Amino acid sequence: MEPKELSVFPMGKKNDAFAEYFIGQSYLNMLSSEQVAIGNVTFEPGCRNNWHIHRAKSGGGQILLVTAGRGYYQEWGKPARELHPGDVVNIPTNVKHWHGAAPDSWFAHLAVEVPAEGAANEWLEPVSDEEYEKLK
Ligand code: MN
Repeated sequence: MEPKELSVFPMGKKNDAFAEYFIGQSYLNMLSSEQVAIGNVTFEPGCRNNWHIHRAKSGGGQILLVTAGRGYYQEWGKPARELHPGDVVNIPTNVKHWHGAAPDSWFAHLAVEVPAEGAANEWLEPVSDEEYEKLK
């Protein structure tokens, strides 16, 4: 699968603004920046974001709508969940997790930022190669 075939949504530009919180190359295209923020995030094979937490005083969290490729979502202390197009992930506030591509596949999801009071992302350590390489 080539990147340009990934999704009906445009892939956008290299995600330079958040590059320090990712391993590998990701791309970000904000589809909606009002009412509810929705970004189209594309990961090259092997690319994943660091462990992170969507903090909020009330409301908040994130919903992932998988549009293309194969990837993973994992909460701290739990097994990784393999993701395919059509899958939906509800990420609660204040839960440590990561999401990203499988080692051998591009991956794309829409990230819906659930409206919140006092929202802030807390970025943590990278997903280690040792942990990641257990995944197929
Ligand atoms: Mn997240």
